[in-house]
Amino acid sequence: MQMWIKGGRVLDPEEFDGPADIFVEDGRIARVQPAGQGVEAGFPADAEIIDARDLLVVPGLVDMHVHLRQPGQEYKETIETGTRAAAAGGFTAVCCMPNTSPVNDSESVTRFIIQEAGRLGYARVYPVGAVSVGLAGQQLAEFGDLKTAGAVGVSDDGQPVADAQLMRRALEYARGIGICVISHCEEKALAGGTMNEGVVSTRLGLAGIPNAAESIMVMRDIALSELTGTPVHIAHVSTRQSVEAIRAAKVAGIAVTAETAPHYFTLTHEAVKAYETHAKMNPPLRTETDRQAVIAGLADGTIDAVATDHAPHGVLDKQLEFDQAANGIIGLETALSLGLRLVDAGLLSLGQLISAMSKNPARIIQKPCGLVSGLPADITLIDLSARYTYHAADGYSKARNTPFDGWQFKGRARYTIVGGQKVFDSQNHANL
Ligand SMILES: [Zn+2]
Repeated sequence: MQMWIKGGRVLDPEEFDGPADIFVEDGRIARVQPAGQGVEAGFPADAEIIDARDLLVVPGLVDMHVHLRQPGQEYKETIETGTRAAAAGGFTAVCCMPNTSPVNDSESVTRFIIQEAGRLGYARVYPVGAVSVGLAGQQLAEFGDLKTAGAVGVSDDGQPVADAQLMRRALEYARGIGICVISHCEEKALAGGTMNEGVVSTRLGLAGIPNAAESIMVMRDIALSELTGTPVHIAHVSTRQSVEAIRAAKVAGIAVTAETAPHYFTLTHEAVKAYETHAKMNPPLRTETDRQAVIAGLADGTIDAVATDHAPHGVLDKQLEFDQAANGIIGLETALSLGLRLVDAGLLSLGQLISAMSKNPARIIQKPCGLVSGLPADITLIDLSARYTYHAADGYSKARNTPFDGWQFKGRARYTIVGGQKVFDSQNHANL
């Protein structure tokens, strides 16, 4: 199957930005050439042509933090619905967290996820295995087996590794194997509340979670990264203090990388104001000062990646008293539009946003990403001027738990291409 992506603005951050044609052959990028030179010699006349005039053509977006819920919680999401949501959001690859049932602490669960995602074909799925058996924080999982089966990282996401010695051993073990260690930083002893500790929690009478609950463990893991000489990746950064600690660590030459999620650069704890459970997540939405610090961290490269922490839940998981409701929101279908708001506001360049949503996360999980001949043809075409209202009920995710329902956006994925196959077309939802 051949494809000619014709006349778009091709943006491969730090490599190329300009009008160009991309030829795809056998699932890979065969050639990128300046626009207007016509068909490459020998390229078949019956190739599928995608008219990319007025579209931005970028490396396929990579979300390094999602929850696909399968196996075990298929009423919330499945690999099928989650990867279709990914494709609709412009993502060609996602990393799925191990807090499934059973927990992904073994080769067999990792292989099942990869096999199922491969059969469906909507997005590449790179599993993240557990750091500890059963996420119990006692005994390390078999990182070597997980890596052999296809896992790209290990994390006890949602269940922070409380024992500093176990985290040290995890980093030492991971270094030999070359697998990414992703840390959900949360000091549980400080995190007994249900939202950010501040004026809003006081007003609502809800127990709060201070910023220090996150930054204490960020600082610990930076120290352990330095001690072991092993890279560590900090998940979903939400606080000013975490950004400052990561910035200082990078200056000191410590191999730390970090991600944040769109809700942390878009919303604050004010979004909880009417006990809104769709604004409940872990870590919680913070203050305006923290939101600004997260944006500054993205702008100066302290925060490498934007990841969604896509966390689907059933309706009944959220229709509860605030303290009883589940944590987390879906994010695959809104992340790109929320990121483009930062570009429109002049806070990030387009190249910075696209890097944070494609090449940077790909580099952290050691997967190829870019618009260069020979690489897999994972490509996202974006209509920067498309205006639309997001309705969660029309989304591909099985879940509806989002604070962005009804928001008006500018800019979205027009086509998503995985391995040379069109898996999403925003103007033709059938037949794909
Ligand atoms: Zn987490």
